[in-house]
Amino acid sequence: MLPEKQLAWGLSRSCIRELAEYGAARKAEIGADKVFDFSIGNPSVPAPDCVNEAIAELIKGDSIALHGYTTAAGLMSLRQKLAEDLNKRFDIAAKPEFMYVTCGAAASLTVSLNAILLPGDEVIVIAPFFPEYRVFTEGAGGKLVVVQPKDDLQIDIDNLKAALNNKTKAVIINSPNNPSGAVYSEDNIKALSVALKEHEEKTGETLYLISDEPYREIVYGGISVPCPLKYYDDSIMCYSFSKSLSVPGERIGYIVVNSRMKDAANVYASVMGSGRSLGFVNPPSLFQRVIERCIGQTSDISEYETNRNILCEGLKEIGYDYIEPQGAFYLFLKSLDPDAKAFSDKAKAHELLLVPSDDFGIPGYVRISYCVSRKTIEDSMPAFKALFEEYKH
Ligand code: PLP
Repeated sequence: MLPEKQLAWGLSRSCIRELAEYGAARKAEIGADKVFDFSIGNPSVPAPDCVNEAIAELIKGDSIALHGYTTAAGLMSLRQKLAEDLNKRFDIAAKPEFMYVTCGAAASLTVSLNAILLPGDEVIVIAPFFPEYRVFTEGAGGKLVVVQPKDDLQIDIDNLKAALNNKTKAVIINSPNNPSGAVYSEDNIKALSVALKEHEEKTGETLYLISDEPYREIVYGGISVPCPLKYYDDSIMCYSFSKSLSVPGERIGYIVVNSRMKDAANVYASVMGSGRSLGFVNPPSLFQRVIERCIGQTSDISEYETNRNILCEGLKEIGYDYIEPQGAFYLFLKSLDPDAKAFSDKAKAHELLLVPSDDFGIPGYVRISYCVSRKTIEDSMPAFKALFEEYKH
């Protein structure tokens, strides 16, 4: 006998993976430039120069030290620099002794969830949400509860309050959001914090807020992303450099347990134990040292902003409805069919690969990942127009 859940997750393919595989096959068949693949969130902008410069410098040094184990929680010197940077930017009293360096956001989330969940605990996510939250939560013994957002995709506090109960252990938020590009406003985060505190007072139990923020630096029009740790003590930050530095294959990120949390020392100990039990200890040594030299840097975000503007203008001109993205590199397009999967299938016939929103916990949209070349966006416009006309006639 094999564990039922693990087997099912291994055998099933997410909509995103299915489309990406279809896209790869289609590109081999008709040529990469003829397929408009908007299916995945792989950064399309190179890493900033500091990344390769740091690697070139580091490999000249002592190979044994460079490629050896570091401490389980990551180099103290790196955690100190990260904490200093976070405190300067967000005033959150981050402490290196409550930080844990990980293999990206996926590891940050699984380590955090396994650190706090007991079997049967509920974890609330706000739709639309990153589909792996379900696997991460259920893998840690929890049950995922989906809360629908307001029409503008901000958190609907009344819906959230209605979902809170004695079994709720955590709420996961993700802003800037994958798949919609929405950024939760400061007022929205403050209202969320008040609702969570009220629930804690009512139940006498800790309710954790997990803030998944791999797109934190990818925002447009100068808007700022409020830091939830500033407003809510029982919070855990899950970060990754995958998107901000365009290094998703290098697997590097971190967890911050809020030092203002009453039980921070125990929660951090549980994070360490969770990381240990999942095998997420001693993240890549070379990349810990690269990150140490690149704090405060990002890849060229303006490239995504230009892509966003060209895409929005083109879609608007054709007549499409969409939620204007404020961050990340995704656009949520209103499906022209009540069934977003059917719309995505029709789009495929125009060589447009768009992910239906049902897997993200909300019906009626498709996700367009615009982390692609400028040419892909420009060349795709006739296909978007033909798809639109197919529905309008
Ligand atoms: N969380 C969100 C919202 C994401 O979009 C992703 C990746 O696309 C992850 C987590 C996982 O990131 P990582 O590649 O750093 O593990």
